Amino acid sequence: MSAPKSIKHVLASARTGEEATIRGWIYRTRSSGAIVFAVVRDSSGIIQVTAKKGNLPDADLGAAKSAAIESSVIVTGKIFEDKRAPSGYEMRASSFQVIGAASPFPITEYQSEELLLDNRHLWIRSREQTAVMKVKASIMDGARQWLKQNDFVEVTPPILTQNACEGGVTLFKLKYFDREAFLSQSAQMYLEALIFSLDRVYSLTPSFRAEKSRTTRHLTEYWHLELEEAWVDNSGNMEIQEGLVSAMVENALRERREELTLLGRDPDDLKEVRPPFTRRSYSDVIGELKAKGHDVEFGCDLGAVEERAVTADEKVPMFVTNFPKEIKAFYMKEDEVDPRTVKCADLLAPEGYGEIIGGSERETDVNKLIERLNNLNIPIEAYEWYLDLRRFGSVPHSGFGLGIERVVRWVCKLEHIRDAIPFPRTVARVYP
Ligand code: ATP
Ligand code: MG
Repeated sequence: MSAPKSIKHVLASARTGEEATIRGWIYRTRSSGAIVFAVVRDSSGIIQVTAKKGNLPDADLGAAKSAAIESSVIVTGKIFEDKRAPSGYEMRASSFQVIGAASPFPITEYQSEELLLDNRHLWIRSREQTAVMKVKASIMDGARQWLKQNDFVEVTPPILTQNACEGGVTLFKLKYFDREAFLSQSAQMYLEALIFSLDRVYSLTPSFRAEKSRTTRHLTEYWHLELEEAWVDNSGNMEIQEGLVSAMVENALRERREELTLLGRDPDDLKEVRPPFTRRSYSDVIGELKAKGHDVEFGCDLGAVEERAVTADEKVPMFVTNFPKEIKAFYMKEDEVDPRTVKCADLLAPEGYGEIIGGSERETDVNKLIERLNNLNIPIEAYEWYLDLRRFGSVPHSGFGLGIERVVRWVCKLEHIRDAIPFPRTVARVYP
């Protein structure tokens, strides 16, 4: 037996009649008389294996015949060109070993979404899910590379916290010994504290939000990439976002064209995702929506429907800036030019996929922060440490949070965000 190689490797170096060994799982199988056609997959690809009486020991042929799909196997054989085979080549087995026999697989071709979710631990073996996970890894890797090149330091904020960044409604509360604590909704405040030692920081952690509404873009646990930058204003913050998002998409395009294509995403659709992205003010967007007949006015938040209406025909992401103060978080900096609004930007993905980033310049005036907390009836005590950041050498600074699964959903053209994470958590599901 030759040393096992990945299927991709074997296909890439396939020369007719060459022997190779592969390891993987049976993806499809059928037998007719003395011949078995099995498609074997591994993490790199699929190949058709034929096991024919006379080419391999009878015991191996018997094993191949009785092996159900998802059995794990090691197969040795010669490679031949075969136009009818899924990858253009087939392996003619001289040895076929079943390593772990599979019980009848609970997932067959047409299954309800619920059954697939109940069997998520098995469904993640599917080619689509595998492709999504690879694209996601390349997206995150693209981000990390860009962040390193741009002098950001990765930091590790806490997940257990007593601060509510995004408001009380979506907090997961837990008993922390004899006190109450929450699962983090955002690392932002801790990142703000860290810029005083490190200037430019980021973290990639799970964020938790008790989202009760069922939408195609909310999870209760998602991966949150957050940045905070000293000496950067709202406009510099947007430049960082467009650089970062472009690098994430570019890395996925460089490494995962095949996977994107398998998912139904034409990689060329994403070629135009390069700085600068479109910039529009909230007021301007409200004007457009009104003209299109939407029932909105200054002061309304933009939901999925409105975001889709504005970006459905776009090819590149779009910043929407200057939202009204009342609908944004207390820490966003008031705009001097239009004090009804704050110096913020949401970044919307093109093609109607909606918000992928929320960001802003941060308020540095401690009195303004206290006033806004008071107006919102938020007790100051829990935020004393945060207010201290303004009392000890405050600097202008900005930051933002990006939902990794939101980006994956857009890049992979997924209908639902749950397919952008292997084990999705939603209001209806924490199993498996
Ligand atoms: P939305 O209006 O879509 O609920 P948000 O305004 O609550 O978003 P932020 O608090 O600004 O979002 O969070 C920063 C980013 O985190 C968002 O732009 C989005 O990409 C991501 N995000 C927020 N909530 C979720 C969620 N429940 N599931 C997945 N990603 C999320
Ligand atoms: Mg929200």
